[in-house]
Amino acid sequence: MIYTGGTIGMFKDLKTGSLVPFDFSQLIKNIPELQLIDKKIDTISFEQPIDSSNIRPHHWVLLADMIEEHYDNYDGFVILHGSDTMAYTASALSFMLENLSKPVILTGSQLPIGDLRTDAKENIITSIQIAGSYDGDVPVVPEVGIYFEFKLLRGNRTVKASSEHFNAFDSPNYLPLAQSGVDLKFYKSRILSVPDGIFNVHKVLEENVIVLKIHPAITEAYLSHIVNLTGVKAIILETYGSGNAPIQDWFINLLKMAIEEKSIHIINITQCQKGRIVPDKYETGRRLMSIGVYNGKDLTTEAALTKMMYLLGKKLSKKAIKSAFERPLRGEMD
Ligand code: ASP
Repeated sequence: MIYTGGTIGMFKDLKTGSLVPFDFSQLIKNIPELQLIDKKIDTISFEQPIDSSNIRPHHWVLLADMIEEHYDNYDGFVILHGSDTMAYTASALSFMLENLSKPVILTGSQLPIGDLRTDAKENIITSIQIAGSYDGDVPVVPEVGIYFEFKLLRGNRTVKASSEHFNAFDSPNYLPLAQSGVDLKFYKSRILSVPDGIFNVHKVLEENVIVLKIHPAITEAYLSHIVNLTGVKAIILETYGSGNAPIQDWFINLLKMAIEEKSIHIINITQCQKGRIVPDKYETGRRLMSIGVYNGKDLTTEAALTKMMYLLGKKLSKKAIKSAFERPLRGEMD
């Protein structure tokens, strides 16, 4: 079990009244139930636990390092993480951990472990059970998942959907991998199979990727500034509906210039909470595709961003990046 921080292990600072992370030994003391689990659990922690709003790509590399170092010695891994950026971390790890054949389950909570009404205990205990679930020698969930409030979701399909409900996460375009009630029920047909290849950890992530949400008041000056920023390698464009955007000349021409003259990769994903890109449905979507924007299909923003960071880190050709981006690598798109 790896502790990174998050509400799960926070307490109220008496001076400010705000929640701040505390150290792992305190957290463990608050879960005596861990002794009752019939699994051997070892724990490691970030030296400085963080609110997950402070997460940076180097923390993902640190997590990947920790998993790589201990990979052969454990049946599975549970990562305790703040809920704010859990979907980003889960998505990033899913790409970084190629040919993963052990469960990596992220969880956290909406209320600290010390709170009488905390949701932390069930989340942690069931996550440990999932991470340790095997059919003989074969792990039941050989992928990166998020377990929260009775549901196991594929990490790279998940978004944080509520800041106030215990049921904080949603996987709008993919059904849950498991549900916890009286029994822990796995939906095996939805879970990835154990991959054939050798476990391989990718640690180079390109950070110069921009997420840009289209809106009716977007201006030429703003878009021009973005595409001309030094060092930009890719733009994840959150478009309307099934992938539609303005077709005014200035808009299309700026994107075309970015693609052709600056070799910027531009990806079309929908800003809708559910659904996918249907490139030819409207003229406003077709124009984007005709200038060479990639089809992000039903990717979440979190998955699109981290997939592009991962692919750019591999230093592939432009053609290879487009082709890898538009096909599923870890079950992140249909
Ligand atoms: N701000 C917290 C964090 O993401 C929220 C949480 O843990 O639920 O670290």
